[in-house]
This record gives sequence, structure tokens and C-alpha cells, in this order.
Amino acid sequence: MNKKSKYFKVFSLCIPVKGAIRSAIYDLQRNEFKFIPNTLYSILEEYNGKTIEEVLENFSDEDDKETVREYFNFLVENDYIFFCDKDELELFPDLEKEYNFPGTISNAIIDIGNLPEERYLDLLTYLEELGCLDIVLRFPKSCSQSQVYDLCDALKKSSIKSIDIFLNFDESIDLSEIISTFPRIRTITVTGAAKENMKVGSLGRGNIHYTTTEFESLDRNFEIDKSMLTSNIKMFMEAQFYHTYLNKKLFIDIDGNIKNSPESDISFGQLMNISGSAELNRIVDSPKFKKLWEVKKDETEVCKDCELRYMCTDSRVPIANNEGEWTHEIDCNYNPFTGKWTA
Ligand code: SF4
Repeated sequence: MNKKSKYFKVFSLCIPVKGAIRSAIYDLQRNEFKFIPNTLYSILEEYNGKTIEEVLENFSDEDDKETVREYFNFLVENDYIFFCDKDELELFPDLEKEYNFPGTISNAIIDIGNLPEERYLDLLTYLEELGCLDIVLRFPKSCSQSQVYDLCDALKKSSIKSIDIFLNFDESIDLSEIISTFPRIRTITVTGAAKENMKVGSLGRGNIHYTTTEFESLDRNFEIDKSMLTSNIKMFMEAQFYHTYLNKKLFIDIDGNIKNSPESDISFGQLMNISGSAELNRIVDSPKFKKLWEVKKDETEVCKDCELRYMCTDSRVPIANNEGEWTHEIDCNYNPFTGKWTA
């Protein structure tokens, strides 16, 4: 096939995203991404569906032409583009951007502490009724094996997909036994450990992550973890319309206050006063509770110029500045204007 005379098309699941000084191609099928120069981003935006010859005609300088050829070699080698005849172009439409989640809440973080155990067990039932799929159980105070066991057991026959657990280091708790009993547990994070360590559960599933970080410091860590950048279709689509950390999230603090997230100060109600899922739904489905859900990175200062904006999970609480723009009090550890990470 003579690629020069064929029309090139970017695969619909390979999405170029422009940043201030560089861009990225998100490969939503292979869950990968690669940085690309902004000049290549512009070529993809402007000439998708043209021939390479047509692209080259727009560059008079021989060095520029050579760079364009290198770009296309890169695109072919990484399977970001394919070639077809002109009349086939319309057979490959762009990816339609849409995001739907049927439940009111998709994920919840519960700090287990000062309320009677029955309240937490009731809450787990309410969350299931609201469509929640992923639950994080955190034990800021000391806890017993039976306490962890009882809560996980309550989810055994539920539609909850995953459980993540955070607890303080305590030798008397048999974590391997908990993991092998409850297949829905994805990770157990043990805070205040003597050293960092990672163990895989004895049945080959469920990780136990030991960290020296103390529990109290968890919610003050706003750093974007490079290893957690997720280029997948769910995250990408959600980020087109919503805040990927806050959207459909519910947090219950240790005193039973109903909040948006552990990083948020505002309480929208008290779990002790909730007597059914309809009542909880009324709170979390209210415009006040959902206000931050729709804060997109595309409308947030700094982030709107970042090529990672549809793949990062940012736990900072957005605030509206005097001009009505969304911003943050703390800078991100990635600077899209320099392309550099701090720390
Ligand atoms: S600046 Fe930081 S928080 Fe904002 S989009 Fe980029 S990586 Fe995410």
C-alpha cells in the first residue's frame, strides 16, 4: 500500500489532548498515553482524513518536511493512525463523547468511628440502593478484626463491586485472612507501618500496602501520583462532563457528617438522622451537594491548559475566584507550563 496516496485517520480511541507546552495522545483502548509536541497535535487536528502528501504540501522548509515524516513514522509505529481510501473515511466517525452512570452515588468513603455499628451497616444498605459500586472503609481509630469482618460480611451478597480498606498498623489483625474471606477487597492500606511494603494476598488477589504515612496525613496529600494517571475510556468520558474525583462521591466522616469528600469541610447532614436510602438520596441529589460534581478541568484555571486533564484524579477542592473561575488554593505538583513535576 502506498501510504502517501492514502488518507490517514486517527483511531477513534486514540485522542490527542493539547496542553500549554506539549500534548498527549491518550490510547483509551490500551490504557496508555504518550507525550507529543504541540506541532504534531496541530497536524492531527487540522489534517486528520488527509493524505501525508497533502500535509507535506503545507511545509516549504525541508527540515520541517523531514520532521513531519518522522511524526508519521511515530504515529504508524504506535498504531495511532491507519490509512484508507477517501470514500472509506466516513465509515470511521469520531468517538461520541458521553458519560452515564445510572446510580446517584458511584463511590463512597466511610470513616468508621464514633457511631454505633448498626448505623454503618444501615449505611451500606442505603449505598447499595443508591447504586454505589465502590466503597472505601477507613478506620482512623484502632479497630478490631471482628469490626472489619462484620462490615465486609454485610457487603458479601451486595452489588458492591470493590472494597478498599485503610487501617492503622495493628499486629493483632490478620489481614491475609480478611482478604481471603472477602474476594471484593481490592486493597488494604496499613498506615503508620515501620516501613513501606506491598504484599499480594495469599490467593493471588487483594494487595496489602504498608505505608509509613500516618492516617491523619492521608487527606492532606494532594499530590497527583504519576503512577495513577489513568488513560481509559471511563475516566476520559467522565472528565468531559464532570470532576472525576468528586462526581457521585459521598464521604461520611468519623462523626457521621455527610460530605463531598474527606478534603471537604462542609457538612450536608448527619448520618444519625438518616432513616432510609430515600432520605440519604434527598441530600446527595440536592443541587448544593452536587455543586462541585460538574467542575470540569476544562473550566479550571491551570488544569484547563494541562495535557493530563482527562486522566488525573485531583482531590483538591475547587473554589470559585472573584472572576467566577474555578481554581485551587494549593498548586498541583505538575506544572503544565513547564512540563515539570515537583517532589
Ligand atoms: S495541573 Fe495537575 S490537577 Fe490539573 S489537570 Fe494537570 S495534573 Fe491534573
